[in-house]
Amino acid sequence: MSDRNKIKDNCFALPKGINWCPMDVALKTLEENLNTVCQKKKISSITSEGCILAKPINAAVSNPNFSNSAVDGFGFGGPAFEGLNKFSLISGTAFAGKPFGEEIPEFHAIEIMTGAALPPGVDTIVLNEDVHLDNKSITFSGKLKKGSNVRLVGEDVQEGDLLFEIGHRLRPQDLALLVAAGVKTVTVYKPLRVGILSTGNEILDSSLSNKSDLKKSMIFDSNRPLLSSLISKWGCEVIDIGLEIDDLKKIRQKMDLAAEKCDVLLTSGGASAGNADYLSKLIKEEGELYNWRIAVKPGRPLAMGVWKGMPVFGLPGNPVAAYVCTLIFFYPAMSRMAGSGWLEPQAFQMLANFQKTKLAGRREFLRARVNDLGQVEVFKSEGSGRISGLSWSHGLVELPDEALEIKKGDQVKYIPYSSFGI
Ligand code: AMP
Ligand code: MG
Repeated sequence: MSDRNKIKDNCFALPKGINWCPMDVALKTLEENLNTVCQKKKISSITSEGCILAKPINAAVSNPNFSNSAVDGFGFGGPAFEGLNKFSLISGTAFAGKPFGEEIPEFHAIEIMTGAALPPGVDTIVLNEDVHLDNKSITFSGKLKKGSNVRLVGEDVQEGDLLFEIGHRLRPQDLALLVAAGVKTVTVYKPLRVGILSTGNEILDSSLSNKSDLKKSMIFDSNRPLLSSLISKWGCEVIDIGLEIDDLKKIRQKMDLAAEKCDVLLTSGGASAGNADYLSKLIKEEGELYNWRIAVKPGRPLAMGVWKGMPVFGLPGNPVAAYVCTLIFFYPAMSRMAGSGWLEPQAFQMLANFQKTKLAGRREFLRARVNDLGQVEVFKSEGSGRISGLSWSHGLVELPDEALEIKKGDQVKYIPYSSFGI
């Protein structure tokens, strides 16, 4: 049996009286009912890229851990004066990794390299290029601020400083900071295990069939590769539950398999409330199902279910709708379950390079991208069967629930796919 924390059967019930569910109500219901489900593990900092922190991290050492030179030059103590400055040169050099331990007296200077610890008595460095050098002395003109070209101990990070909060997903640059701050291990969440299941009599596994099979009014399974690669990009563990025909017994077996192995299941196809919607039918009869008729285009039917304690996101079969619903509903839900908290994608107000009249009563998402002039263009067709529009686009324009007349040059809300981590 899976070690997943079970969720309440009725957690996806929408507030009473809701028929067409506004998108925000659907999101709120998810936000209020889903929690982090992943176990924790301790790993080496240097292999933690992409992992989500399960404990906050504080700096174990300061960065830098000793005051050092920011340039190749000459170090001296005290202020430089207006006019000509002349210092007697101490023989020797302070190298990075090879500190020069002797005290540098007043009116004396020493050659110092970038990254070398400041010898005692040195608090200011003058750049190589700014000095005149003879055997015994250096000369430079002008006033140099005390402390110039020096990196002070702890100026970047102080020992004990909070570096990252719980829920932060570690990026490559964060690994550099962890290592610099002496953090050897981190406690992270194990990846969320996400099952992917496609359903439909007409769907073919593209790796097991060829184009002649399409003649019999079949189509290739676009959704499993789409969803699997999204899920792995989001740092989750993909569990391929496969492809199943519209058959209650067979789908039941797949659902049981998923309940053993996964924290959450993403299905596509058969999610509406029609006679051919076997997935909905099965969960309704034997699990707990809420057919969310969400006022969102593309999308609409989203079957939110619970099967043996496992949340099930029943996505529409249409790849465009499946993609948009995954970004809008599953991305924040997945983030919450995986330990990052409820993440909302960053959106930008941008100028439209299109016009459109929109009816009231539903949220709409258009496949979009930004042109060279910084204006948002939308795909030539809103047809939700146009998978090519997904590849054409770099983001989505989100239009509000109210009626709207958009003219060229109006501001619209644009969400780049990078806001969803893709
Ligand atoms: P359904 O939600 O099962 O009614 O399917 C809606 C549309 O999406 C139909 O045209 C299906 O053939 C298509 N569809 C369903 N599943 C997939 C899939 N895995 N890959 C590509 N298209 C699909
Ligand atoms: Mg179907």
